[in-house]
Amino acid sequence: MRPHLVVIGGGITGLSAAWTAARHGAGFSDGCDVTVIEREAEAGGKARTHRNGGWLAEGGPAGFLSGRPAIERIIAEAELTDEVVTANKAAAHRFVYFNSALRRVVPNPVGLVTAGLLDVRGALRLLGEPFVPTRRSGPEESVWDFAARRIGAQAADRLVAPMTLGIYAGDAHQLSLPSAFPRMAALESEHGSLVRGLIAKRGRMATGTLTSFRDGLQTLPRELSRRGRFATQTRRAVRALAHDGARWSVSVEGGPALVADAVVIAVEAWAAAPLLDGVAPPSAAALRQFDYPPVTVVSLGFAPGDASGVPNGFGVLITRGEGLRALGNLWDSQFFPSRSPSGHLLLRAMLGGAVDRDAGTLDDEAAVALVRRELARLYGTVAAPVFSHVVRWPRAIPQYTVGHADRVRAVRDGLRAQPGLFIAGSALDGIAFADAAASGVNAAEDALRWLRTTRS
Ligand SMILES: Cc1cc2nc3c(=O)[nH]c(=O)nc-3n(C[C@H](O)[C@H](O)[C@H](O)COP(=O)(O)OP(=O)(O)OC[C@H]3O[C@@H](n4cnc5c(N)ncnc54)[C@H](O)[C@@H]3O)c2cc1C
Repeated sequence: MRPHLVVIGGGITGLSAAWTAARHGAGFSDGCDVTVIEREAEAGGKARTHRNGGWLAEGGPAGFLSGRPAIERIIAEAELTDEVVTANKAAAHRFVYFNSALRRVVPNPVGLVTAGLLDVRGALRLLGEPFVPTRRSGPEESVWDFAARRIGAQAADRLVAPMTLGIYAGDAHQLSLPSAFPRMAALESEHGSLVRGLIAKRGRMATGTLTSFRDGLQTLPRELSRRGRFATQTRRAVRALAHDGARWSVSVEGGPALVADAVVIAVEAWAAAPLLDGVAPPSAAALRQFDYPPVTVVSLGFAPGDASGVPNGFGVLITRGEGLRALGNLWDSQFFPSRSPSGHLLLRAMLGGAVDRDAGTLDDEAAVALVRRELARLYGTVAAPVFSHVVRWPRAIPQYTVGHADRVRAVRDGLRAQPGLFIAGSALDGIAFADAAASGVNAAEDALRWLRTTRS
């Protein structure tokens, strides 16, 4: 009999898992059946693209970084390479709002002083990084503590804290350095210093180019679901899991339970917890500890010349203490020009996150009004938008706070004894879209390996 794999969750993690299992499950004599169960009306999860006339607004991720093998392999397998778009050169120009002005971030201390981001003392402290003693032991450090120790408090506040907002909508004082930025932690542990590590790795530390699709990022989950040799059932929420000693029973709201030989859980940590209450209570308890602050994404479109103070570039991150509530703005149509009608500007503002949860819960009208008020501070006079779209995520991005690695270990340890039960996703294996895809691929490969072993 063909084995049946059920994947719970139709975000990029679950669809990458299903795609991989359906494609590579052919190792069984007559293949492997794969079913994806998704609660919402369509596949995509946090990848949610909204198209309206000439506007294309992302409600979640803007894209993913190139050079990530798992996602690139899936794109090639799904024959989507021709649909791929990459950000243009404007994406290299990034800004931080500090001391009432937009300041260009450049990768050298002199430039940072010229831009007004650091004073001479702050720049000298940054230059002294290679001479800071290497920390080899001690309690887990927060991102901010690490940055302040290695490059000084000024650079931690004005460069690293905004970057943490931009990636995690997170608080650098709470996030764990080794969990949130493992490559930075490795530079110190392997090379003794960030600067020495960057020099040693020159050319091999490429961060990649922001990549998406002509019709937006949701193209990938949507097309995997459409083209994959598996079934996707939408508008169906999984309520519980149980194992009868031989197979899994997957209870789905308002319908008969599905019977499965293996299960991949690819939902958010808070959504996975109730599924595991009856199966692996310690894993469920650990999953409940993940914090997901709210984020609201406000997309605004402007007619030509109506927001002329917005520079050509990627966007701006906003330091706290400036009296502004947005975490930052992305100038999407500057780096993906086809996201707005010709000559127009599409801008997205992020509200909320771990530093301002209330701003992430404003209703649409209040969120747009707040963003518009702040645009005047950031860019000078800005006319009324000709397009607007708001997406609210009550629980947006998992926070890799201090203790994260222990929580992940507790989740995985608790599932080890469960036959054919696997878990993947951005709470555990990296919060980036490409990490989520890789996590799904790995879970599918583990599930196939397990099915082969137990059925041979
Ligand atoms: C505002 C925002 C901006 C972001 N920006 C970027 C960016 O620029 N670059 C980047 O790389 N990453 C970014 N990310 C992160 C990226 O979006 C995520 O890492 C990725 O989309 C997570 O995919 P996932 O499949 O693991 O989870 P999700 O996309 O959350 O998918 C989980 C799915 O499971 C479903 N589900 C939940 N419970 C059940 C249930 N009981 N039964 C059935 N289905 C269920 C949900 O409906 C959902 O579809 C951003 C995230 C947000 C929120």
